[in-house]
Amino acid sequence: SLPETEKTGNRVTVFVRVRPISKKEKEAGSRCCVRIVNPRDVYLTEFVNTNDYLRLKRIRGRHFTFDACFPDSATQQEVYSTSTSELVEGVLQGRNGTVFCYGATGAGKTYTMLGTVESPGVMVLAIKDLFRKIKTRSCDGNHAVHLSYLEVYNETVRDLISPGRSLVLREDKQGIVAAGLTQYRVYSIDEVMTLLQQGNRNRTTEPTRANETSSRSHAVLQVVVEYQVRDAAMNIINSVGKLSLVDLAGSERALATDQRTLRSLEGANINRSLLALSCCINALVDGKKHIPYRNSKLTQLLKDSLGGTCSTVMIANISPSNLSSGETQNTLHWADRAKEI
Ligand code: ADP
Ligand code: MG
Repeated sequence: SLPETEKTGNRVTVFVRVRPISKKEKEAGSRCCVRIVNPRDVYLTEFVNTNDYLRLKRIRGRHFTFDACFPDSATQQEVYSTSTSELVEGVLQGRNGTVFCYGATGAGKTYTMLGTVESPGVMVLAIKDLFRKIKTRSCDGNHAVHLSYLEVYNETVRDLISPGRSLVLREDKQGIVAAGLTQYRVYSIDEVMTLLQQGNRNRTTEPTRANETSSRSHAVLQVVVEYQVRDAAMNIINSVGKLSLVDLAGSERALATDQRTLRSLEGANINRSLLALSCCINALVDGKKHIPYRNSKLTQLLKDSLGGTCSTVMIANISPSNLSSGETQNTLHWADRAKEI
């Protein structure tokens, strides 16, 4: 079993999840280059090709340390309990929290976030836990749970549950909102699962790959919990907490670390929201006063859920195969940087 997350006082906790090797990777003769040495350390071996293609030479490796590393045998429940259950508790106390899945296409982000009907992921388990927790305390107040599910694709925001025209971001007294985005009041976990599966089918697909979700699509589920209760003096006390669960676009080729890189890549076929998120995280890591939220739709939407007093969880998804070791290395470096916030 996994250790309890250490309470370091950091506002960002960073996890790594290795998915099982796929049939395709096995058939391609790939070797495993990722080893979880202990519950917090992952070791990445880098291989190089020798002249004989069957013989891969091991050159060097590197250790990375995170809040926890999940092996391919980790269950969805273990991943949820270790990474996200604390944030759910915080949301019930009126705080905001955000969970991101980051990694290359095929690394297991959607599996981790949404999962399948048989093995539901973090999105579903979080809401299930939320309902369970509310039930145990609902005798002394009124709770309302609303959810919205949207997509940022090519800097266009769309409602995934009620698809239609693209949505405009507006600033109002609550912060930045997607005007017209449906907020579903939900009462049970079964209807949540249905809504999310339905929403996921509405994610943008590339015309050439009709059934596959585009690797450039970000899906953002936001769950708002409002709690109203009267105190001893009969004053109404309101608490609002928001949990954002984000299945990010594939991280391949998204290596911008500063404003200049972001500008120079503008217009290129690179994911602006992902780069802008990297820039915001870098600015937060460096303790900058100005965080460039305005640079993309995704970072605008998450402005009140990143940095400040919010709790942020990053789950870096990786493949164990040496065929993806370049992407794995990039993902681990990115995650390593994020944990310094
Ligand atoms: P991504 O969203 O990062 O592109 P997916 O979540 O779609 O990747 O995962 C790619 C494939 O690997 C899918 O078929 C998925 O079901 C499978 N997969 C990913 N992670 C796991 C896991 N932990 N256990 C079992 N299968 C997984
Ligand atoms: Mg996916």
